[in-house]
Amino acid sequence: MHPSSWNVGGTTVHRVDETPLPPETGAWLLPDATPDLVRALPWLLPHHATATGALRADSHSFAFEAGGLRVVVDTGIGNGKPRANPAWHDLRTDYPDRLAAAGFPPESVDLVVLTHLHSDHVGWNTRRAGGDGEWVPTFPNARHLTSRVERDFWAGHPMDEARAQVFRDSVDPVERAGLLEPVDVPGGGLEVAPGVRLLPTPGHTPGHVAVELTSGDERALITGDCLHHPVQLAHPDLTACVDVDPALSRATRRALLDRLAGTGTLLLGTHFAPPTAGRVVRHGSGYRLDPVPAGRDR
Ligand SMILES: [Zn+2]
Repeated sequence: MHPSSWNVGGTTVHRVDETPLPPETGAWLLPDATPDLVRALPWLLPHHATATGALRADSHSFAFEAGGLRVVVDTGIGNGKPRANPAWHDLRTDYPDRLAAAGFPPESVDLVVLTHLHSDHVGWNTRRAGGDGEWVPTFPNARHLTSRVERDFWAGHPMDEARAQVFRDSVDPVERAGLLEPVDVPGGGLEVAPGVRLLPTPGHTPGHVAVELTSGDERALITGDCLHHPVQLAHPDLTACVDVDPALSRATRRALLDRLAGTGTLLLGTHFAPPTAGRVVRHGSGYRLDPVPAGRDR
């Protein structure tokens, strides 16, 4: 079996794959990451970029156990969802089976952390009840945490039809079931399970959080979308076309990378293609990722 877990101070963090994103994703998402810029960063090849300078990206979740709580961070795109983006429309993956294979059958999950409420992070919040039935929670026994700032922002945001659809099929059913729990995340972060902290990392969206895991004397950080791709380590000013506040997104990224650089913290990228994880090291005027392949003890 393809190894897809890391040991963080005795805690096993699993990557649960949903799907690779198509090659055109990078140029759409990070339009200023041109092929020339990418090819000038040989450390991105072959895992994070192609020889022609196209960026690779994935959709996956992370799952781990903390203090007896079974935690899943972000829930991908989901199956059978009507989406404007053809790469995300009506997917048919066996993601629930992969969760179970990693030891996290959906009904066993206690806590789902949603880094933000974009469609590729909330999709598996729900699945169809039998064939073409209604959307029901995939994780019926889990509290689904999102920052209150994030929930309130979207509640007051004029939504186009595509975004309204995401909330109708992937957020509202969880809220109606009493499973959505907006939480206040102060500047210093909020501990939501033993050793698990939500860190405010705004910019991509106003209430975006990253997830910090501390276990033993080791630490990991799950990016969500405050970093979409390792190319942003070399160029933290590269913003995504979908960032709500690009200037704040840059400032957040710079502060985060400065804090992580040279520490042993394992950076786990929510859209990073395998090997998905690494340590942030200073490199020239920016940073680079020193990869830590899955399935190897740190
Ligand atoms: Zn995303």
